[in-house]
Amino acid sequence: MVTCVFFHAHPDDEALLTAGTMARLSSEGHRVVLVVATAGEAGLVADGGNPGVLRRAELRSSAALLGCDRLVELGYPDSGLSGSPTGFSAHDPHEVARRLADVLHEEEARMLTSYDPNGGYGHPDHRQVHRVATLAAKLARTPILLEATVDRTWYARGLKAARVAGVKVPPDTGQVYSSSSEITHRVDVRPWLAEKRASMAAHASQASSRGGDTRTLAVLLRLPRPLFRLALGTEWYVRREMLAGSRMTHPLAELC
Ligand SMILES: [Zn+2]
Repeated sequence: MVTCVFFHAHPDDEALLTAGTMARLSSEGHRVVLVVATAGEAGLVADGGNPGVLRRAELRSSAALLGCDRLVELGYPDSGLSGSPTGFSAHDPHEVARRLADVLHEEEARMLTSYDPNGGYGHPDHRQVHRVATLAAKLARTPILLEATVDRTWYARGLKAARVAGVKVPPDTGQVYSSSSEITHRVDVRPWLAEKRASMAAHASQASSRGGDTRTLAVLLRLPRPLFRLALGTEWYVRREMLAGSRMTHPLAELC
């Protein structure tokens, strides 16, 4: 049994990108630690409460539903899509990496998750997660570093299907997430979709759509069960580099 640390930018990123993998590893007896950089307070909250407080409470529910053994909140300000000059993305990545490396040391983590260099769709906080995780894994000599991503081909197909169904979706620029050829791990999480769905639903403030604002979580949670299974039954990772001596069997090797 090993410890796996999942590093995310905002509450709800864990639900969308790695929830199935987390539930799976936890159910198999591995120690699962969730580290989140910000409280996601720049995300819209429908009913006008304090976004940071609400989203942190949602994050705690999600972590419990996924069987997390520990939740670490780094407490940086959410940069928002336009990248606030005082936000997480503007902090010195080396400084943040030292804090993350402390957690990795403490936990004797075997595996850390990050994002692809573009942070999926380019959110400044997601790109910062990539920079920080890459540095922290080196500092702590964490053997396995996996970038949580989405298969770009699959994503484009999903957008097209959604558009045909009349859902307002962002234009497909073809530059998001990772190409099929880059992906090294395709994790089948279909047996853990109940946990994944519950984790997504726990982020209730992000799961309602108002007016013209269509949110990914809201759209996905409204999918009929077979489509939900198709859309969310796989989680993708890219393993780019290996530290010396990191070829040992690790949980995800058995899953793929
Ligand atoms: Zn995010």
